[in-house]
Amino acid sequence: MPDHDAAREEFLQQLREAQRSLDAGFAHLPPAPQTALDDRAAAILQEAATRLRDNDPYGHPLYAGQMLKPPHPIARAAYALAMSINPNNHALDGGRASSAMEIEAVAEIAKMFGWDEHLGHLASGGTFANLEALWIAGQLAREQNRPLGIAASDQAHYTHARISCVLGLPFVSIASGSDGQMNLRALEGELQKGTVGTVVATLGTTATGAVDPLDRIIALGERYNFRLHVDAAYGGYFILAANAGNPLAFRALPDPRIDSIVVDPHKHGLQPYGCGCVLFRDPTAGRFYKHDSPYTYFTSRDLHLGEISLECSRAGASAVALWATQKLLPYTRGGEFARGLEAGCEAARSFYEQINFRGPFVGTMIRPALDIVCWTVRGRTPEESSARAEAIFKEARRRDLYLALAKLPVRYFPWEMWDKRAVSEANAMHPTYVTCLRSVLMKPDHREWLPEIISRLDAAVTAVIG
Ligand SMILES: *Cc1c(COP(=O)(O)O)cnc(C)c1O
Repeated sequence: MPDHDAAREEFLQQLREAQRSLDAGFAHLPPAPQTALDDRAAAILQEAATRLRDNDPYGHPLYAGQMLKPPHPIARAAYALAMSINPNNHALDGGRASSAMEIEAVAEIAKMFGWDEHLGHLASGGTFANLEALWIAGQLAREQNRPLGIAASDQAHYTHARISCVLGLPFVSIASGSDGQMNLRALEGELQKGTVGTVVATLGTTATGAVDPLDRIIALGERYNFRLHVDAAYGGYFILAANAGNPLAFRALPDPRIDSIVVDPHKHGLQPYGCGCVLFRDPTAGRFYKHDSPYTYFTSRDLHLGEISLECSRAGASAVALWATQKLLPYTRGGEFARGLEAGCEAARSFYEQINFRGPFVGTMIRPALDIVCWTVRGRTPEESSARAEAIFKEARRRDLYLALAKLPVRYFPWEMWDKRAVSEANAMHPTYVTCLRSVLMKPDHREWLPEIISRLDAAVTAVIG
């Protein structure tokens, strides 16, 4: 591995060369004035650089907290290159090349899921991509006179309830089991009421990485008539990983009974923010997007992505970055990209084995399915465990180990870890949640850095509870 400066030099060098070749395509035009940065701009940039130090070191392996993964340098370089044109993927008029690259990049994602037919596009993120999927679900339900209700697990992303509210669709939350997965008996109970028209299965919940039993949810479709949307914003790419938990759920992803999927290239696809993706199984879903606005500029009969997207202007640079990253790191099982995901799963499991019921720590009853680990600290009561987790979180930061906190149902932890008498004395305020520590080990380097992470964690524990 080259050092920091050498890698940065190589990045700038390659970007400069690519920029020259892009510019050559426009060299026949008469020269037009260019804006150059002056001394005042330099001072402002210095100030911005100083202000940006007020961040945690997200790209470093000692950052093992939230779901933040550094984009691949090729994504950054391709984004910067495309930015010099600043294409708009709303219409071919605003970005022909980048629209073609978006169509190719989205087709690669569909292929990864084993879909041979699809309609899809990039969106600003998972939230907007899910909004589009649920919007189509609601439009179809209205058209077919089917129930409008949306059902998702209580561990589904919090935005599903809000999106349903925005769309005017009733939302019902389905209990999760102590494995973090949607409880199918609870789902079936709700389906029997006849008010649910769409079920959202989460492949990789954001808090714990639990994978809903997609194969069994599909099987429920034989007895109940519902549309099935898969929210794989965080977990979708793990279809490529040989060691992802709940393999039956991932193997079910190509099933034609799935109507739509969302995946976020800006989570596990090594992309800068502003890159989600929605796929529809049935391309005729596109008819709901039809509009004939007088001020957009569809000047050719070919497909303009703005005709199949709720958002109007979108960064063509996002598509170029994703396309370039896929060329360098294709979505193949056993390939370099897949091995990076596998390293994260391995790191999470190894970490879990090393902390669960070791010293003061107890893990959730959810053995990591993907690359997220949640654990808490022994205490007499859930309140005491929560307070200790928060203290260790702060102490770890002082040692440059960056973790995250999560509030999880107490039923995710073995009840024996708390003192029964102390809990029953505090019963009046018996909490249903416990604050625990959470690590998303999503950088492949996390696997090699585990010993260092654990030694810093141990030092933080000693400082808090001796
Ligand atoms: C992150 C996430 C979302 C929201 O996606 P954004 O890109 O943050 O808008 C939705 N669902 C799941 C499962 C997620 O992990």
